[in-house]
Amino acid sequence: MSFSSLGLSEAIVRAVSEHGYTTPTPIQAQAIPAVLNGGDLLAGAQTGTGKTAGFVLPILQRLTATPTEGKRKIRVLVLTPTRELAAQVEESVRTYGKYTGIKSLVIFGGVGINPQISAMRQGVDILVATPGRLLDHHQQRTVDLSHVEILVLDEADRMLDMGFIHDIKKILAILPKKRQNLLFSATFSDDIKRLADSLLDNPALIEVARRNSTVEMITQKVHPVDRDKKKELLTHLIKQNNWHQVLVFTRTKHGANRLAEGLNKSGITALAIHGNKSQSARTKALAEFKTGDLAVLVATDIAARGIDIDQLPHVVNFEIPNVPEDYVHRIGRTGRAGATGEAVSLVCVDEKKMFNDIERLIKRDVEIVVVPGFEPDPHAKPQPIQMRSQDHQGRGGQGRGRPGGGGQGQGQGRGASGGGGGGGQGKPRSGGGGGRSSGGGQGNQSSRGGSSGQGAGQNAARPPREGGGGSANTSARSGGGGTTRTAKPAPALFRKGTR
Ligand code: AMP
Repeated sequence: MSFSSLGLSEAIVRAVSEHGYTTPTPIQAQAIPAVLNGGDLLAGAQTGTGKTAGFVLPILQRLTATPTEGKRKIRVLVLTPTRELAAQVEESVRTYGKYTGIKSLVIFGGVGINPQISAMRQGVDILVATPGRLLDHHQQRTVDLSHVEILVLDEADRMLDMGFIHDIKKILAILPKKRQNLLFSATFSDDIKRLADSLLDNPALIEVARRNSTVEMITQKVHPVDRDKKKELLTHLIKQNNWHQVLVFTRTKHGANRLAEGLNKSGITALAIHGNKSQSARTKALAEFKTGDLAVLVATDIAARGIDIDQLPHVVNFEIPNVPEDYVHRIGRTGRAGATGEAVSLVCVDEKKMFNDIERLIKRDVEIVVVPGFEPDPHAKPQPIQMRSQDHQGRGGQGRGRPGGGGQGQGQGRGASGGGGGGGQGKPRSGGGGGRSSGGGQGNQSSRGGSSGQGAGQNAARPPREGGGGSANTSARSGGGGTTRTAKPAPALFRKGTR
């Protein structure tokens, strides 16, 4: 099958071929005709499947088929959970739309709002935005959404996890009633189903990846190791195997900084990206990593979300994520769109149980390979795991809470969970944990707050990660219940007639 046989114009097909794509991926083969039809779409697709082109290409086609007369108006709105994803989606729009004359713009928090206002005035056809900054523009009347014909919710599950449901509802209320809605999500919780039910009208259903399945092409390995030998082992693996492009995950920002420093001392070029880094530092680190100037990028989970690097060969779980599903997201950074990849996990005695939970989730045992010279001490006793950075203990953000106690917020203004909110100087919004700064900062920090006022015991069980105060893209998972994912077997994603 070719892109042109899907009904895309020569201008779009040319851009796609120049980008090196010859054949549509399965999600593209299904989504492109569905979107071109004009109906709503509910697509179950993990990142790495080519889902972005799956909606961008037919959208470009639809817009060019009915060009705007006079000044450009925002005809398409794409909402994403993170800045990185927003930037990448907009870059895709530019790449695929380079011969179409379509203009796009990306807006997100953490950077000045004025350049965005100026760019918006120039006229935009496709706007890609994170929800918080979009609402800031709406409040300041610097965005006109009254001509939106197509709405895309990308990684909708992540948006809900990050507590954006209230923002999404506000945005939906602003948009014209008559429009095409496309919802992409890797997983289908009850919350997502509820959102889909309220948003979508008789949608086409597409599913291309099993829920919680790890990409088949990825080789997974566990290296058991003592907790204080992990850095040494990682250095050994990188040098011994001549790895040139490795994405390494830590649980905390502090841990990411420390590891990057340690690797540099060992002669391996490494940088950390996390929510406390400025947007420009993160963009720079990512660019250097993509070009190969930087061998190792050390990232926390949320900072890494949306990172799209073609054929990233190695992902290392330096620390095991405390939420099993994050493992799937982490290793999904490799082996994208059919490429092979390798994911190794350095597991110390403290993390064995967490790794067992992951194996239960992915329904397979991961091969255990002891690296000679790094055999773990068989008598070592597990110790409690430090889940958050020492340097940010106890700081709440300036958060926005969910009604009913469970907090949700965003860094520099969306802080903290129900348990940890406070310190906010911002304008309070929807109850709970405080306010939201009115200035430049918007950080996509989230918490998975318990919705029923669970106390400290629960917080210890599912403690905040990268707690509060961060400037961007950090996540705290606190409290019980709520949207915390479990290792339960996954139900079928879609069932006919569930609407
Ligand atoms: P996505 O799931 O949209 O994040 O895309 C994952 C990766 O697949 C990106 O690196 C894309 O550049 C790549 N990709 C998307 N579509 C195709 C295609 N038809 N052929 C080859 N690579 C693709």
